[in-house]
Amino acid sequence: MTAPFSRIAVIGLGLLGGSVARAIAACLPDAVTTGFDADPQVRARARAIGLVDTVAETAGDAVRAADLLVLCVPVGAMGAAATALAGDLPAGAIVTDVGSSKASVARALAEALPDHVVIPAHPVAGTEQSGPDAGFATLFRNRWCIVTPPEGVDPAALARLVGFWEALGARVETMDAEHHDRVLAVTSHLPHLIAYTIVGTASDLEQVTQSEVIKFSAGGFRDFTRIAASDPTMWRDVFLSNREAVLEMLQRFTEDLTELQKAIRKGDGETLFDHFTRTRAIRRGIIAMGQDDARPDFGRSDHAGADKPA
Ligand code: NAP
Repeated sequence: MTAPFSRIAVIGLGLLGGSVARAIAACLPDAVTTGFDADPQVRARARAIGLVDTVAETAGDAVRAADLLVLCVPVGAMGAAATALAGDLPAGAIVTDVGSSKASVARALAEALPDHVVIPAHPVAGTEQSGPDAGFATLFRNRWCIVTPPEGVDPAALARLVGFWEALGARVETMDAEHHDRVLAVTSHLPHLIAYTIVGTASDLEQVTQSEVIKFSAGGFRDFTRIAASDPTMWRDVFLSNREAVLEMLQRFTEDLTELQKAIRKGDGETLFDHFTRTRAIRRGIIAMGQDDARPDFGRSDHAGADKPA
């Protein structure tokens, strides 16, 4: 396959930037990569582990010869990161990003780089880790990457960008940025908010000690703690940038929660049973689409079967 790009600049060398860089090295070995991170310690570490071919000391130096720019900084930093390199980015370079919300990032990038082709994207793949050591080359393999092309985008540029994400192993779907933000509000942003809330609530309880919460966490709590360990900067920015869609989904969630609360109070087992039957089917659908492990307890081999949730 012809490589869609040959000189790729990655700005932000944390989990996502590091994974993009590693995936390029593994899947597009002829492409030359440059990188920059605002944090000098991250730059030093990226150099030490050879994350990209060249780690530059400024964002401008990193992008000077690029034909593709991939911005991998927190959503709230996208505009500033793009502005810092605007004067050095070659005119024909295509710009994309990996931010978890899209409408606000699309606006910020279009404003910072008005003369470039900007095609925002969001690989729906990640972990609760951050930093340059956290990434891995297979992060995008068989995961969805949602590309949100602006209206009237050059079809050839879009095809090249889609080819890039597919080369890294992703399955690509295109949609508009606003739709992306509503879909992700319910599939990712709201679950994170719920996890952050539950873990905070459990740690604030007076009647149950912290050591009991940790000891008996296999009852369900520990699966929330993984999500609630996600990067605070990243998630602060996601909620602030996708505020409206998150608030809309939160309103729906609160209404549904109140319904379940009512059913519990009234002893209405039928409502609870019907609801749980419906949600179980969703889990089966996710497994059928190859988006998670079908084994009990997510395939934690030492616990499977033996450690049933209470
Ligand atoms: P990360 O591991 O914290 O890496 C982000 C890096 O960008 C940090 O080293 C940060 O430095 C640096 N940075 C911040 N502002 C910068 C700037 N203006 N110029 C250059 N570098 C800058 O975060 P991540 O998890 O890779 O997330 C990066 C992006 O990926 C976010 O937009 C996030 O929404 C998106 N995303 C994340 C996941 C996930 O699961 N983590 C999944 C999909 C998409 P400082 O620490 O000094 O600020």
